[in-house]
Order: sequence, then C-alpha cells, then structure tokens
Amino acid sequence: MFRSHTCGELQISHLNQTVTLAGWVQRVRNLGGMTFVDLRDRYGLTQLAFNEVWDPELMDEARKLGREFVLSAQGEVIERSSKNAAMATGDIEIKVSNFKILNSAKTPPFTIEDDTDGGEELRMKYRYLDIRRAPVRNNLLLRNKVNLAVRNYLNDEGFVDIETPFLIKSTPEGARDFVVPSRMNEGEFYALPQSPQTFKQLLMVGGMDKYFQIVKCFRDEDLRADRQPEFTQIDCEMAFVERDDVLRTFEGLTRHLIKEIKGIDTGDFPRMTYDEAIKKYGSDKPDIRFGMEFVELSELTASSGFPVFDSAELVVSICAPGIANYSRKQLDALVNFVKTPQVGATGLIWCKHQEDGSFKSSVDKFFSQEALQNWANAAQSKTGDLILIMAGQAAKTRAALSALRLHLAENLNLRKSSEFAPLWVIDFPLLEWDEDSNRWHAMHHPFTAPYPKDLTLIDTDPGAIRANAYDLVLNGNEIGGGSIRIHDKALQEKIFGYLGFSDEEARKQFGFLMDAFEYGAPPHGGMAFGFDRLVALLGGKETIRDFIAFPKNNAGRDVMIDAPATLADEQLKELNLSVNLD
Ligand code: ASP
Repeated sequence: MFRSHTCGELQISHLNQTVTLAGWVQRVRNLGGMTFVDLRDRYGLTQLAFNEVWDPELMDEARKLGREFVLSAQGEVIERSSKNAAMATGDIEIKVSNFKILNSAKTPPFTIEDDTDGGEELRMKYRYLDIRRAPVRNNLLLRNKVNLAVRNYLNDEGFVDIETPFLIKSTPEGARDFVVPSRMNEGEFYALPQSPQTFKQLLMVGGMDKYFQIVKCFRDEDLRADRQPEFTQIDCEMAFVERDDVLRTFEGLTRHLIKEIKGIDTGDFPRMTYDEAIKKYGSDKPDIRFGMEFVELSELTASSGFPVFDSAELVVSICAPGIANYSRKQLDALVNFVKTPQVGATGLIWCKHQEDGSFKSSVDKFFSQEALQNWANAAQSKTGDLILIMAGQAAKTRAALSALRLHLAENLNLRKSSEFAPLWVIDFPLLEWDEDSNRWHAMHHPFTAPYPKDLTLIDTDPGAIRANAYDLVLNGNEIGGGSIRIHDKALQEKIFGYLGFSDEEARKQFGFLMDAFEYGAPPHGGMAFGFDRLVALLGGKETIRDFIAFPKNNAGRDVMIDAPATLADEQLKELNLSVNLD
C-alpha cells in the first residue's frame, strides 16, 4: 500500500494512528538533532519528522533526500510542539518509522512552492512541475468544479451533451481556420471547428431541442495577449425559444455558478442595448462595477473657439471621483497613457473641480469659470473630482475614453475581483464594415437573425440593422454571446447575399444547412460561453493561461512538447503536401 491517507487530511483527531503517506519532497530542513521533510501531494502538505533520538540511521537517510523525490512514508501521527496555523495539517506531524524512495528526482529548474522563482517560459516548459504547485493545481481543481456545476445545472434543465465532429469544413466565426490535410482525399483539407455552430443548429433540426457541449474550438488568430489558439466553450442551443427564453436560461446558469463557486448572489442581470453601452461606456463589454459613465459635452462646447472641440464630431467626458488633487506629473501620466499606441488618442483635457468650488483646467485660456461650471453640472462632478475630456471622431474617441476609464478604475482600485457585475448587452448591429476587405461582415456570424423590421434599411443604412444577438458581460469581459438564428432558407440566402457570398459560394459552403432548413427547421437560438475566461474570472484572475493545464504561449507554441513542428518528408508525401527543400 502506497498510502492510507493524503497529505492534506491529517488532523489532531488522527493522533496516535499509524498512517502511510505518499508524495513529493517539497523541502528538507535539518535542525541539529532533528530533520523535517515537507511531503506534498495533490491534497496538501504534511510534515514528516525525524529525530536522532528516535532513529539516527533513518534520520541520516532522510537528510539525503532531494527535492521532488517521490516517497511513501509510514509513521505515527503526533502533535506538533510548535503548531503552524497557516497550514491545514499544521497541528500534527508524522513520526516516521520507515520510508521508501519510490523515485528520485533531478533538482527541479524552479522551486515548486506557492511562490516560485520560475519565470513564465520556464514554468511552461516544465508545466508538469508547475502543476504540482498549489496555485496552478487549485486553478485546475476550480476548473473541474465549474465544469461539473455547469453539467449538473444544464442536465437538470434537460440539456443533452452531444459531441460534434472536429474534422469539419470551415465555419465562419470571424477567424482563420486551422486546417488538417486529408491523406485519403488528395488535395483536400478538413478545418477544425471555430465553434460547433452549424452542427448545433442541425441538432435543432434533428429535434434535440436542448443541446450543450463543453468543447474545444480552434481559431487561427494573431495572438493577442491572453488568447489561445485552442480554447474551450460551453456551447448551447435551444429550439422553440425566443431571445428571452435563452437569456433566462443562461442567466440562471451564470447566477448559479457565481453562487456555487463564490457564494455571491447576483440577482437579475441588467440589460443594455449595444448603442447604450457604446454611448455610456464606449465599449460593448462595459465594466459596470463602478460608475464613471460617459457624459457628452458636444452641445456645451459647440462653437467655443477652441479648435480641438470645434473640429470634433464628439466631445465626451468622464468624472473620476476624488482625484482633483492629482499632481502635474500624475496628470501628465494620464495624458501620456491616452497617447500610447494601444489607446491612440491625440490628447486629453482635464478639469479639476477644486475643494473651494472653483475650477482649474488644462484649457483655462479658452473657457471661463462659468463654462467649466456648466461642464461640471453636466458631468455631475463634486468638489474633489477630476473631469477628463476627449474629443474627435466619435467611435475612436469613445474607444479611447473607454480605455482611460478602465485605466483609471484600475489605478483607483475600483475593479475588485471579489465583485461580480454581470449584464446582458443586446441588439448588436447585424453587420460591421470591414475596412480591409471593403465590405460588410456579420458582426456575430452569418446565421444570426436580424430584426425583421430593420431589414428595410438594407439599401439605405445597412449598419443600422439590428441583430437579435446578445452578449453576456462580466466585469468588463465578454464571457458569452449568442443569437436567435435564422431558420428560414430564403432569409438565410438573402443574408449570405448581403455578406457578399455568390449563390454558388453560399451553396458550396452552406448548402447542407440550407437544405436542412427545407425539412422543417424549428425556430432556435443559443449561445456559447468562453469557458477558460469564465473559470479565470471565478478564480479572481483575468489570465486564462493559468487555468489551462497545458496552454500555448503568446506565439501559439507549446514550449513543453515543442509544437508546432516540421514533419518528415515521408509524412508530407503521404499527405500530398510539398516536401521540404532543405
Ligand atoms: N458560435 C458562437 C460563438 O462561438 C456562439 C453562438 O452563437 O452560439 O461565438
């Protein structure tokens, strides 16, 4: 028997019992006539005690143990003379009577403790060692817990877990496909699913009216920080539903998860239209844990003689609470922040609402105290607040002010990971203009239903057509999104047309779906959650990589197994791919 108990469970109530533990040596401490070994497994740490009075030879053996040696040790549970309240098993230790080395270990490349000296790249290369560390291990355990809670909830709601294939053909979700050459079909390729979108819709046609799957999806995007080329979705679809049925169901799931994992009640989720979110927060995924809503000052600043405002499509402000005392240096830092390439603004105007009720601004030359007072009234500032103003082309200015709003909230510690503020953003535009390809794209995906009455705008103002699409936003992150789908062949054909597909292309790529729509497709809709991000947020973090057992780095590489890699000529030939020339 390797073990009778785990390294995380022994308490004072186990006193005097003879137990056997198995695990890894985290640390060996030699203190004169005594030696202590911290033994670690998935469940925790237990102190093994050796004493030259009890057994000098055994103690000598223990002193030779190296870090990460694998042991099975037997002994008696005794009370510690100096207890460690910070440790779950800190009241006891094991008076070891014998132990066996199950395997030796090389000195690990970084310390395997809660705080490690290992850098990110090194820890990724030896991810199996990193996983031994409690912070990583706990993230994976949390992921499992969330996974189970999702399954249980959806199962109780009558959802059926159905697997869909990975070797498919392209589904447009706005990214590039990863492709897999087919050996048996020369010159042809499968695509890995960007999501199971078309399959879940076909399951609805197949009558499986509530489907879900916790499933890997693949998108070959340029990797921005904290994106993974393969990621996991909770993918769901329902038939015979309208938008509110879908929102109710998944609001229920989300509320359940936050309650189950964090013990927090979130109540009803607010709903906000896309237009409102953009106007109030400059973002379609607003963080509503704190205020600082946008207040437009265009009218108040019209024809003021200040060129920056006069030439601007939009003048818009936020009011940052309690920082009117910012020094020149701090204000300059804000100005510099908005000028960084990732924010891309040309400038920032500030106005201090001073303690004595007067105003001091960066544009005092152009504006009277009275004018500034009017801004303050509009922005609803109080004494001690700082009003920040940006001006320019509307969309760009809003995006930049949104970045500043988040930056300030971060600085002012208003983005608390212990707070959960979910909301639905609804009524997204159906189409989005793509500068690069010079045409309209589906903002969500081409299967999303438009609001029928908006379709009259198709020739005059296509960008104003609203989709019956929704996102679930949590603390400034999009954690899920979906839509009511088109289930009518003629409408689907029309939308493909708007998106620039010729009839032939649409037929070639989506003929199977349009055929299915001719055989009694029910009204349906659904959504998908980004599972990695959801788990990270429930874990109080924003980096998804920490919650994935074997993640890829920013260049899309798995540095542990060293993938991607070249193939041998033989293999390439078999796949009918051209052979390396060097
Ligand atoms: N397939 C969509 C996505 O991956 C989600 C959905 O519409 O259900 O974003």
